[in-house]
Amino acid sequence: MDSILQDALIYGKKYLPSGKVANYIPELAKADPSHLGICLMLPDGSTYQAGDFQVPFTMQSIAKTFSLILALKTAGYETVFSKVGMEPTGDCFDSIVQLETKQLPPFNPMINAGAIVTVSCIKAQDPFEEFLALVRQLCFNNTIALNESVYLSEKRTGMRNRSIAYLLQSDQILEGEPEQVLDQYFHMCSVEVTTVDLARYALILANDGLDPITGTQMLEEWIVRIVKTLMLTCGMYDESGEFAVKAGIPSKSGVGGGIVATTEQGMGIATYGPVLNQKGNSIGGTHMLEYLSSKLNLHSFASKTYTAV
Ligand code: GLN
Repeated sequence: MDSILQDALIYGKKYLPSGKVANYIPELAKADPSHLGICLMLPDGSTYQAGDFQVPFTMQSIAKTFSLILALKTAGYETVFSKVGMEPTGDCFDSIVQLETKQLPPFNPMINAGAIVTVSCIKAQDPFEEFLALVRQLCFNNTIALNESVYLSEKRTGMRNRSIAYLLQSDQILEGEPEQVLDQYFHMCSVEVTTVDLARYALILANDGLDPITGTQMLEEWIVRIVKTLMLTCGMYDESGEFAVKAGIPSKSGVGGGIVATTEQGMGIATYGPVLNQKGNSIGGTHMLEYLSSKLNLHSFASKTYTAV
């Protein structure tokens, strides 16, 4: 496995020159474009890593999986899905076109509009505190914390997300004060993790909410099923279809450069590489996952008689 991960890294690195680090959140532009790393965990707890797997990064849109879990846990299926849909969009993650043309409610919880509504559904005294507690619990790391500079940077420059939130308010989809909901959302996006943290989380998702290492049921199965389905159909924004064909692994990316991926075989995988493609997905990460899918036969719909190439 170590040598497969090394090969995946070499393969992923080849694509780095054709992408760019995100700079619309100024603080993210400071990331080192040469970084690329991966962590993979098997159900028996064995862990494999390669490259810059220990470099911390902010979750960004990966936070949308945790906010969906928290909304489903605290507000329930009916409430959440009365405010947000389950359909993939062919538009970019921060698009406002569907809001402007009144295709409401927002298509799914994995794009900005849908995630902002999902955050507003969370029933908690302090939604961010609950969110952070959930992240720490599912990543088995109590030191996970907010990256204050990224949070402030996004709060200062997040005008597009403000447009989204106010449009949603104008159509009575978003209840509550937009600035307050946005502040929660910006906080959640700015939580800092490593691939090791996210691979641990992915391991739980991959095993239907049961942590195979401790034997504890960490999440209800129905919630995990919804989250993984939406990761497969919507987790890579408007590249979700192509990624599903090529890798076939339920995954969620963030503009911080992370991708969290859960396999049918019960593996948890996370990649980090801040250089993004035009859709906003880590270019090294997507290629490493495609490589591993082919080498290890990880495609969700792979034929049982498939021979790895
Ligand atoms: N915080 C980012 C934003 O709202 C998250 C987007 C992303 O990772 N694609 O723009």
